[in-house]
Parts: sequence; C-alpha cells; structure tokens
Amino acid sequence: MLDNADLNLPEIEYEGKTIQLSHGLYSVIMSGHDRAKREEAFKLYYSAFRKILTTLATTYYGNVKANMFYKSVRGHESCLNKALFEEDVDASVYARLVKSVSEATPIMHRYMALRKRVLGYADMHMYDIYPSLVPNAELKLSFEEAFELCLKGLEPLGEEYLSLFRKGRDEGWIDVCETEGKRSGAYSIGIYGNHPFVLLNYQKTTHDVFTIAHEMGHSLHSYYSNGAQPYAKADYKIFVAEVASTVNEVLLLKYLLKTTEDANLKKYLLNYFMDMIRTTLFRQTQFAEFEEKAHALAEGGEPLNKDNLSSLYLELNKKYYGEAVTHDEEISFEWARIPHFYRSFYVYKYATGITSAICIANRILREGEKAVEDYKRFLKGGCSTDPVSLLKIAGADLTAEAPFKAAMAEFEEALKEFEALS
Ligand SMILES: [Zn+2]
Repeated sequence: MLDNADLNLPEIEYEGKTIQLSHGLYSVIMSGHDRAKREEAFKLYYSAFRKILTTLATTYYGNVKANMFYKSVRGHESCLNKALFEEDVDASVYARLVKSVSEATPIMHRYMALRKRVLGYADMHMYDIYPSLVPNAELKLSFEEAFELCLKGLEPLGEEYLSLFRKGRDEGWIDVCETEGKRSGAYSIGIYGNHPFVLLNYQKTTHDVFTIAHEMGHSLHSYYSNGAQPYAKADYKIFVAEVASTVNEVLLLKYLLKTTEDANLKKYLLNYFMDMIRTTLFRQTQFAEFEEKAHALAEGGEPLNKDNLSSLYLELNKKYYGEAVTHDEEISFEWARIPHFYRSFYVYKYATGITSAICIANRILREGEKAVEDYKRFLKGGCSTDPVSLLKIAGADLTAEAPFKAAMAEFEEALKEFEALS
C-alpha cells in the first residue's frame, strides 16, 4: 500500500502537461528517447523513495524476520533452503544460476560499453539503459498479420502444436482488443475441463507480436497438462510456468533473425533479444543475489536497515553493469521499489525459466521431431513430478552447467552480431 497508494510521487511535465509521476509513466519515460526527461524522471522517482527509505527497510526486514522464524521452526538450514524445499527444487540450482551469471558479467559489461558508444554519451547512467539502440524499426502489424507471423515462427513445433495455436484464434479463446473498462496488460488462464483463455490489449508494436506467442505458450502448456493429467496433478508449478511462453518467444525471434534481410531490423531484433536476456536473466539474478545476501546478513545476526541494504544493492549493481555505467546514488535505493522482494526467492525463477527456454528452443531447432516429442511430454507433465525433473525431460538439465553456459553464449553471440553491424 505504501508503494501502490501512499508513495506520493512528484509531478512532472509530460507532453505539455503537468501530471503526477506514476510507476507506469516512469517506465514509459525510461524507454523513451528524451534523455533529459529520463534523467528528470529518474531523480524525481527516487526522491520519493528516499523519503520513506527507513520505513521500507524496516518493512523489508520484517519480511525477512518472518522468513527466519519459519525456517527455524521448520528446521531448515537457511531461508533460501526452505524456499527451494517448498518449490521442490534442488538446492544446487540457485547456486549454479548465481555462479554462472556472475561469471558472465564481463559480457554484460561489454554490452553496456557498446550501448554507451552507440548512444554517443560521455557518461551513461542507469536511466540510459532502457531505450532501444535502434529507433524506428518497430514492427507495426495488424493482429491478423502478427498471428500469422507467430505461426511461421513456431513451425518447428510441428503441425499438431500449430493446429492448436490456430484453434485458439478460430474458436475465440483470445480477447484481442483494448476496450473500455477492460483490465490492462496480457495474460492467459488455463481452466481444467475447458479450453484456456487469453486476454490481450493488442497494439501494433513488436512487443505485442511477441506477447501473442508468449500468452499462447502459457495457454497451450495448460491445454496439454489439463488434457493429460488428473485434476490434482494438472496445475504446473511457478518454476516451470514461464518456460513454454519463453520457448515461443525465442523461436519467433530466431525465425525473424534468420529471415530478415533488412540490416536495421536485424539490429533492432538483436537489441531486443539482448535486452530480454538483460532484464530476465541478468537483472533477476542480481535480485536473487540481493535476496540471498540480505537474508544471510540477517541470519548472521546483523539487523537490516536502509544503509546496509542500499550499499549491498549498489555493490551488486556495479558488479552486474560494470564501469561503462555511472552508478548514481539513486540506484542504490532500487531494492526499495521491487514488490517481488516481498515474495522471497521468487524472481530467480524468471532467470531459470529463460535459461531453460533458450536451451529447449535450441534443441528443437537442432534435433527436430525427437526434441518436439520430449518437449510435449514436458508440456503434458503438469506437476506430476518435481519441476527440475520435468525440465530434464525436455532437455534442460538445470543441475548441470550446460544450459547456463548455452544461454550466456547466446547473449555473447547476439552482442557480436550487433557489434559487427554497428
Ligand atoms: Zn508469462
């Protein structure tokens, strides 16, 4: 409530009007191309958090203390171990993720240096890392065209998958357009005994083309699991929930990269892919490491406060983004604006999700039918066994190093290609 309602964000001049800054407007400005506006919004936004930082630190510490209580009464070694135990995830997965991403931070530093060079800035700040490096290359497709493009991109998944994908459109699972009073964003919901539903608010943007592939990925995961499992075992766990959606995005992206002749569009797509990996794999692992370290501090008897939380965050931000970025004081407060931290040890699942998805999509492109068959066994798995074992069926073994290494290699490959085109 403090963050959603009482935060009292300052006013800002935007498109000729003075309006109150909001979380939504902040992200619109951050991905826009008006640098002075981004800097202004960044400073105003964090000034509001600075005013309530003590309260937020105490609130967060309260959350950590609750976790510590439950880990003690349940006899777990640490809060992290308790969280992984509850998710039925092998404890080594978390450590392997953090280690692999940590080792790959030099690639991220290179990306940041490239970004700085392309933007032509003498110094680059955290508010400069969101806009696309390739403006005016946006895909502007009607929903029908975008849907056909998704079908093209998903051809490697075979005719059965494609026919279900079409069925979703032809039989009215999808609510496409924005209408008055309709909930914003996009999501999919699976219903046992019925078909899934998809809510979209389709706009002619690249992001929304990928959203079709993404949400239908969720839907067909539900469709397969609900069809194959008894009710009690049909509902897949959060740990695997973003895999099917991201496999579709990766396949679509690879199709577009392979087929586009236009160098500018190619650069745009490479940038899109790099930012997808930056936000979903690197950033969420940075958050995961923050949670792990904050809990470890508290478990070691050190009370958490705004100072040690902020300096921990700043140190991690420097580690992940490197020296090409100027780390302003404001960014050390970023931990205070992440609502997910109140669902402890949740965000790492985004990072393992995209890692698995890249691994599975690559295997499908490499091995064809056999890989698709295994992937469908995963899609039909629901929660019939633990999520790490389910992913192994599809070829992503998160207890080994290979999928993490492969995801980082993809990132480096995209970076190299982008560099070559720049
Ligand atoms: Zn999703």
